[in-house]
Amino acid sequence: MSRKIAVIGGGAAGMTAAIAAARAGARVTVYEKNDRVGKKILSTGNGKCNFSNERMDGSHYHGSGAELIDGIYHHFGAAQTRRFFEGLGMRIKSRDGYLYPASGQASTVLAVLRYEMDRLSINVHTGQRVTGVFVKRDTDPDRYPGGEPGASRLVVETGGRAKDEYDAVIITCGGKAAGGSGSDGDGYMLAERLGHRIIPVVPALTALRCSEDFYKRVSGVRCDANLTLCIDGRPAGSDRGELQWTDYGISGIPVFQLSRDAAYALREGRSVTVMIDLMPDGAAAGNKADPGAKSAPDRTALTEEAYWRDRWDRQGGQTMEQFVTGLVNKKLGLLLLKLAGLKETEKACNIAPNDKKNLTKLFRSLIVSVKGTNSFDQAQVCAGGVDCAEVTLKLESRIVPGVYFAGEVLDIDGACGGYNLQWAWSSGYTAGRAAAGSPAE
Ligand SMILES: Cc1cc2nc3c(=O)[nH]c(=O)nc-3n(C[C@H](O)[C@H](O)[C@H](O)COP(=O)(O)OP(=O)(O)OC[C@H]3O[C@@H](n4cnc5c(N)ncnc54)[C@H](O)[C@@H]3O)c2cc1C
Repeated sequence: MSRKIAVIGGGAAGMTAAIAAARAGARVTVYEKNDRVGKKILSTGNGKCNFSNERMDGSHYHGSGAELIDGIYHHFGAAQTRRFFEGLGMRIKSRDGYLYPASGQASTVLAVLRYEMDRLSINVHTGQRVTGVFVKRDTDPDRYPGGEPGASRLVVETGGRAKDEYDAVIITCGGKAAGGSGSDGDGYMLAERLGHRIIPVVPALTALRCSEDFYKRVSGVRCDANLTLCIDGRPAGSDRGELQWTDYGISGIPVFQLSRDAAYALREGRSVTVMIDLMPDGAAAGNKADPGAKSAPDRTALTEEAYWRDRWDRQGGQTMEQFVTGLVNKKLGLLLLKLAGLKETEKACNIAPNDKKNLTKLFRSLIVSVKGTNSFDQAQVCAGGVDCAEVTLKLESRIVPGVYFAGEVLDIDGACGGYNLQWAWSSGYTAGRAAAGSPAE
């Protein structure tokens, strides 16, 4: 007799788990609290769904489960995910290794998953919030044809009432990021009631709120920058990409990548700053010396020092507003002048050597103080969750056999770039097959 499985949460991990279990012959029921499954998938990748990445290994992940990644991806990683979606009829395109549906629509990913769930006759109960999962000893062999009398059954409860009994339950409720999409922390509550430890949960892949009073001046500016996160004054990670200035601080992908470590440090009451290099290739990058300039020895690339010497020399007759024009975004240039205590109308040739040094330093290492992250609602994922030391390589609970976990509810979070959805597909597939009693592929 085939196994009867409940999947709690019809998101990316839940749908993949359901498909994997049904393909392995199980009778599957998905419980989803929203009125439809897969709502969050629609907003991923700005509506285009960056569902995986060609560069895929454990180094892109954090959390207590980071070491599970390689083992799980060995059986169902990026290559298998590609084949899985291609097998569902989805053409795929790669942009620099970042994988998207060729349609350019996240809705394609959701649609092909739903078609497959229909084909496999998976029961989908929408509008059903699961409020508990309980273990029940069953002594009636007629009611438990798949196992020994006295074996445990798992009871799923919705709205405070026992709903049905299952051989296995897969908890895929997500974390509590983007709560509007349905994932609001229920998975942690269900896991905790079953006796699992929850590693503190913080928002990740989110913007940082900063203390300075200048953000309104530069809000809306986007620029290439290298960011170094410093915790208690020590470098704790760096990332380069498009920095977005907001009216409360900094955002954009390089900020997102650093945000989980910033969030944990802030939670521990530590001091968090970000050092911003607005000229990540160096001030002189791409510039050759001007053959007419006094200090220009030849037309080879300038050193950083020679670049600034040359600029102060050649543009000495300009106002400081003119001097900073062309170095970086104009609003940022003017902000740095203000931070260096220099007037826009002052002549460059009148600037004292120390002030010159301070200004040029600001372009390469502007330090901002971080006072918080954006809320869970504005975060793409959560860091923290069910302690992965308490699950097996097949994602089965070591505390309550028959219960599995997959997706963001576990203490694993990935970098921006398709890594979080990849974890949802891979962990979902692994848990689904294992719950159905099938060996890993
Ligand atoms: C705006 C945004 C953009 C993103 N873009 C990307 C991207 O491009 N690439 C990428 O890799 N990742 C991206 N992510 C992250 C990615 O979407 C998540 O990591 C992934 O969806 C997690 O999948 P999951 O199935 O574990 O959880 P979820 O997708 O959160 O699904 C959990 C499901 O469980 C349901 N549920 C919760 N509690 C219960 C309950 N008690 N009973 C029944 N159902 C319940 C929820 O309604 C939800 O449908 C993005 C996230 C956001 C918010």
